[in-house]
Amino acid sequence: MEERKTIAVIGAGAAGLMAALAAAEAGAAVTIYEKMGRPGRKIGITGKGRCNVTHVGERERFLKNMVGNGKFLYSAWNALDNDALREMLRCAGVETKEERGGRVFPVSEKAADVVAAFEHTLRRLGVAFRLKTPVQELWQEDERLCGVTLADGRREKADAVILATGGASYPGTGSTGDGYRMAEAAGHTLTPLQPALVPLEVEEEWVKELMGLSLRNVEASLWVDEKCVASEFGEMLFTHFGLSGPIILTLSRQAVMAVAAGSFVEIRVNLKPALTEEVLDKRLARDFASLGRKKAVHCLDELLPASLRPVVLDLAFINTAKEIGQLTREERHRLLELLQALPFTVTGARPLAEAIVTAGGVCVNEVDPRTMKSKKVEGLYLAGEVLDIDGNTGGFNLQAAFSTGYLAGRSAAQ
Ligand SMILES: Cc1cc2nc3c(=O)[nH]c(=O)nc-3n(C[C@H](O)[C@H](O)[C@H](O)COP(=O)(O)OP(=O)(O)OC[C@H]3O[C@@H](n4cnc5c(N)ncnc54)[C@H](O)[C@@H]3O)c2cc1C
Repeated sequence: MEERKTIAVIGAGAAGLMAALAAAEAGAAVTIYEKMGRPGRKIGITGKGRCNVTHVGERERFLKNMVGNGKFLYSAWNALDNDALREMLRCAGVETKEERGGRVFPVSEKAADVVAAFEHTLRRLGVAFRLKTPVQELWQEDERLCGVTLADGRREKADAVILATGGASYPGTGSTGDGYRMAEAAGHTLTPLQPALVPLEVEEEWVKELMGLSLRNVEASLWVDEKCVASEFGEMLFTHFGLSGPIILTLSRQAVMAVAAGSFVEIRVNLKPALTEEVLDKRLARDFASLGRKKAVHCLDELLPASLRPVVLDLAFINTAKEIGQLTREERHRLLELLQALPFTVTGARPLAEAIVTAGGVCVNEVDPRTMKSKKVEGLYLAGEVLDIDGNTGGFNLQAAFSTGYLAGRSAAQ
């Protein structure tokens, strides 16, 4: 009888769990090594605990939203696309639903259900879980991969190893970047690690006054050296250091790179994107006419949330003790400009540990995209965020981890 292939999966995150599943289904004897006490700690906090597991749509949408090396993921998507993932989850007892904008979540809105479904399925398939068992390094002898070396120095044999240790953000979940070190030690090249989907820090001190304020239906534009390079419509949030929220996270990758390149980087927020300049000007003129005898401090009462009004009035140099009827045309135009382009000077981003995703990682040129097999080390496969891949918010990063994990697991078992 032919012996079953033995496979060691390092990391029980999205990519590792899926890799273990695919390998076990293909008949391999799989052991999954996880440094934390429970699998899927990061999955558990995704989508604010609701787990935005994927996004609806065709392959092209997925590849376009994987802004870091999307093309590399062509075969991985073909191996396990969004519909196949949803069907797999359904069979494991997790029904999913599509929300506005195309994001997909479990109907239960519980990320923990996704983790539990994987754990249950893997145990049923006979996968061995080795929790609280950090892998220290890949065990290689004479350039041959023999298995893994654990943190306590013990060595465990395997015919193939799948490196699925994730990125280096939110280290409290176990994703401390160990896999980058292991891959590099085995001969792989790393592209520099950068925070992606990360809150931005700004120069303007007054942003602190807005801390906690969330704005919906606004448009944030990213300006690099006075040129608009991207804009996003949706929700954003002010923090004590700067800007956060979905549309800021989406713009952050380009902003981080532009700051690193030494460019002058701004975010300009259109607070009233549904109104053209002309319509907004007429609206201001009308409001000002009807509020004539009131003090100027009240001139934006109908237009902005309370905490934002003094900031905008101050930036427009409005004497708030004046009557609204006495505001000049120039003053109205200054307000108009700020309402359409409230500017923030981006100085940098929050650290990698606070990023949703790590951009950079194991160079994808050194991995076969059809199998996720290392071109440097025979018997090694890589999947998930440890690779130099990253995507927009919306479920694309988990889909990428699941797709690459599936392909790696299936290939390793063959
Ligand atoms: C707050 C937050 C919210 C997010 N929300 C979403 C979302 O809603 N939708 C989405 O698509 N993406 C989301 N993401 C991104 C997504 O979670 C990741 O891209 C994805 O989890 C990556 O999967 P992975 O398996 O590669 O890595 P991880 O899920 O990070 O798993 C890696 C695993 O490897 C283990 N490990 C590391 N080193 C070792 C070692 N030496 N030995 C043994 N085990 C080790 C870790 O403990 C960890 O369990 C979110 C991320 C964060 C931080």
